Amino acid sequence: MGNKAICLNCKKSFNISSKNSDVLNFKCPECGNETIAVTHRFRPPKVAEKRKWEVVKFLIENGFSYQHISIYEPDRHGILRFIAYAQYPENMIDAIEFVGEYKN
Ligand SMILES: [Zn+2]
Repeated sequence: MGNKAICLNCKKSFNISSKNSDVLNFKCPECGNETIAVTHRFRPPKVAEKRKWEVVKFLIENGFSYQHISIYEPDRHGILRFIAYAQYPENMIDAIEFVGEYKN
């Protein structure tokens, strides 16, 4: 699981050493709030990019922690083939669609 922790309050992400088993209880070093564990794939927006952070919060609240989401499509024989990993959205319109599509 994740080796980054993000603080939605400070809009910052922190790298967590994989040796630190306490990643789920990691408190923000700046404000002391609970942080949220996400995978190393998460690329934090800049602090000033408030809209992108709203998208991050929305995705996390819907159970996405920047894990890989595989996309499969049937080939001409009707057999599902791996196509790509889903790209995580950066704006709210795409995020709503993304959650609707991948939540299950
Ligand atoms: Zn914080």
